[in-house]
Amino acid sequence: MAFDQTERPSIAARLDAELRHAHPATVLASAIESFGDKLALVSSFGAESAVLLHMVSKIRPDLPVLFLDTGMLFGQTLDYRKNLAARLGLTDVRDLRPAYNDLAVTDPDAKLWQTDTDACCNVRKVLPLDRALVDFDAWITGRKRFHGGDRLSLPVVEEASGQVKFNPLANWAKEELDAYMAEHDLPAHPLVAQGFPSIGCWPCTKPVEEGEDVRAGRWAGQDKTECGIHVARAPGTVTNVGGDI
Ligand code: SF4
Repeated sequence: MAFDQTERPSIAARLDAELRHAHPATVLASAIESFGDKLALVSSFGAESAVLLHMVSKIRPDLPVLFLDTGMLFGQTLDYRKNLAARLGLTDVRDLRPAYNDLAVTDPDAKLWQTDTDACCNVRKVLPLDRALVDFDAWITGRKRFHGGDRLSLPVVEEASGQVKFNPLANWAKEELDAYMAEHDLPAHPLVAQGFPSIGCWPCTKPVEEGEDVRAGRWAGQDKTECGIHVARAPGTVTNVGGDI
């Protein structure tokens, strides 16, 4: 089912009113029913990703799962992505990589993260995802309110950049995620046991101390808390411009 971009804000508002207190699996089922093959899940295969991936595997294992392989991920994340996808029977996990032409111009020696993390995230995350999302009207994220910052007021369904975004885990607490992992015997990302409660690229992720915020190890010491894929852009600016994925 496809919706015109002009319809999406009102669809998102209606679905958010219906689903703001719903179980994450109910939110997923509604997203799939509403958007069919125009829906994708974006997953980092990070510390808490197994919960949403497991729920999706029970409802629609062939849902497209978009994985941003920035070229800077921990080897443990690449192994976890491969093994977890196989274990859950997810049949359409797509590895999104930075465009060769973009890297040649902006980050030819792979050191851009040392001088401009916003530009590095843009070429390695934002642009590849924007290009992939051209094929979809709606996407699912794994964000939760308890991660703090801008996420504290996260709605369950929202409209951004002309697309509908579902945040099925917005309401869940860490304890609910842990309980779900245990109940379904889901494997943890191997770096969680080494003190990484949130896992991104290796140059920009550090372990955190007991009691620190979940995302304190992401871009630690910088005035940066998000990579940019959730920054809203004007509808219609998400276009397939330049480069291959
Ligand atoms: Fe680059 Fe760091 Fe962003 Fe990864 S998280 S894309 S290494 S700046």
